Amino acid sequence: MMAKGLPHQQPIEGVKNIICIASGKGGVGKSTVAVNLALAVAADNPKFKVGILDADIYGPSIPKLMNLSGEPLLTADKKMEPLVNYGIKCMSMGFLVDEAAAMVWRGLMVMSAIDRLLRQVDWAPLDWLIVDMPPGTGDVQLSISQNLPLKGAVLVTTPQDIALADVRRGTTMFRKVHVPVLGMVENMSVFVCPKCGHTEHIFGHDGAHTLAEELGIEVLGSIPLDKHICELSDSGQPVVIADPEGSQPIAILSGQPVA
Ligand code: ADP
Repeated sequence: MMAKGLPHQQPIEGVKNIICIASGKGGVGKSTVAVNLALAVAADNPKFKVGILDADIYGPSIPKLMNLSGEPLLTADKKMEPLVNYGIKCMSMGFLVDEAAAMVWRGLMVMSAIDRLLRQVDWAPLDWLIVDMPPGTGDVQLSISQNLPLKGAVLVTTPQDIALADVRRGTTMFRKVHVPVLGMVENMSVFVCPKCGHTEHIFGHDGAHTLAEELGIEVLGSIPLDKHICELSDSGQPVVIADPEGSQPIAILSGQPVA
């Protein structure tokens, strides 16, 4: 069965459920959450086939986070084969062009590139496709949200006021196009000193919970600012795989997506 949606929404062949991971600005950990959520969903239920689409055309980070490189092969019917690591099928503009090339693209080119990455890829069969959205709430994000039969959106934020304001904008955008907001993930919520155990709320305190209450959305989990997460991610070893015991806050998320 394929994901059904509103009339203007085009399903992706062989893909049952699509959810997107969004953020108002870059650098808040959206891709880190997308990757670890995909892995946690697959780890939770080994029968699930899971994929990640890197729709962050201007700053594709899935190749690095998933330790993948090279160009996709073509199938007999000229579809691109996703690259696979840790059992997750991945597609990213980073496999196709030099990062600098995409930097000069305008909105329409970005949209058609994302459309290609979604529809000219041999995803089937997939139970879950996690879409790592481009940061922001502009035209590109709006048209992805409108054109895909999304089961829901997860918003990633830091506790900073400026990032939280983006969650408000993101929630408004998704609600406008009838995409359920599954909740928000508060990343870099607290720093725990590895030497003395002192906790410091570097980017602020409680803001995410207050805003979530006001918007009527759930805080799905809070992830600490942790050197370990950064080092593992940047060396292509997602923390859910490399340190399953230490990644409970992320694993909790895997129970959340709607089936
Ligand atoms: P985005 O997709 O929002 O641009 P990324 O997921 O690429 O953000 O993360 C940006 C940088 O922050 C990466 O180097 C990543 O390893 C690091 N990072 C993300 N979350 C954490 C965290 N909780 N603790 C430490 N570093 C983190």
